[in-house]
Amino acid sequence: MPSDLSVDSQLVTLGRPPREPGAPVGPAVELTSTYLADGELSYARSGNPTWSAFEETLGCLEGGRALAFASGMAAIAASLSLTGHGGSASRPPGTVVVAPQHAYNGTGGLLAQLESDGALQVRRVDVTRTSEVVQAMDGAALVYLESPTNPMLEVADLPAVFEQARARGVLSVCDNTFSTPLLQRPIELGADVVVHSVTKYLSGHSDLLLGATIAASDDLHERLTTYRTLHGAIPGPMETWLALRGMRTLHLRLQRACASAAVLVDRLQQHPAIERVRYPGRGAIIAIEPVGGIASAKALEHAVRLWLPATSLGGVESMLERRRRHPLEPKSVPEHLVRLSVGIEDVEDLWRDLDTALRAGS
Ligand SMILES: *Cc1c(COP(=O)(O)O)cnc(C)c1O
Repeated sequence: MPSDLSVDSQLVTLGRPPREPGAPVGPAVELTSTYLADGELSYARSGNPTWSAFEETLGCLEGGRALAFASGMAAIAASLSLTGHGGSASRPPGTVVVAPQHAYNGTGGLLAQLESDGALQVRRVDVTRTSEVVQAMDGAALVYLESPTNPMLEVADLPAVFEQARARGVLSVCDNTFSTPLLQRPIELGADVVVHSVTKYLSGHSDLLLGATIAASDDLHERLTTYRTLHGAIPGPMETWLALRGMRTLHLRLQRACASAAVLVDRLQQHPAIERVRYPGRGAIIAIEPVGGIASAKALEHAVRLWLPATSLGGVESMLERRRRHPLEPKSVPEHLVRLSVGIEDVEDLWRDLDTALRAGS
């Protein structure tokens, strides 16, 4: 395969079987628990060719070595294990992790659990304040970032934070779910490990759960591989096959979703039923706060007909959700904040549905 291909062509081309007469054009779904002895693969908890096709593609896109995990949370748990000793879950007591005050609520929940178990000490920071993040890294083992954050859409100065982390010997991990490697490549910006909820944009069709880590170095890749094998945090072959199939159109889906999001943001900012619009300037996630508080936010969830009232994001279908309905969501997220994930439907249909629902609820 030519190595000078653009990202769009890479999405279409990578992860295919060798170009040979009679070969299939796409990878097979390998459904097996084990392999005949004396080959490269022995037991399917440590390897599967369908995973490899997906991993090769995502690794190239993010500029590191990728591993598929059972879900985004499994990948995040694996990345946090890097503060300890390789494949073991045990960590030296008091190990410090710096994390966003508004991280994805599963990540926040996992960090809180590890903290209450005494396994970690968490320093929560406002990621928009670079000096606060850098200060918190003194004596820390790992800095965990999301940018933009879910659902407050705060943006961190990633190159500055990663550079300071490296200077202090602090491992850096970045959740790149919202941006995808098409909008942001954290390893190029200096991150050690990228994590993804492949469930969202990468697979893109709201039909599976899958996660991934991408490591900048072979050493980190080996440690994450050991963790995955020992913890059995592995995906099913079908999930990785579907995810790779979804990724073939990632550039087209994202282009449409981002263009529609920009149109909707413009109109929402002038809408009489909207108090505040949060949008980091790119991507397809928007957070709105309707006039009239929780009641209006709940009414909006019930009044939409095209938008799906559901948790999750990054699919072809537009979804919205009042995030504070989850008990784990930080209390500093406004109670009436509604997160919109713009899909690839016609933007005028999306606008009409949203506008009608907002007017009905206000
Ligand atoms: C959904 C999500 C996760 C968790 O991923 P799962 O695949 O649901 O386990 C992690 N980070 C972000 C930013 C997410 O949106």
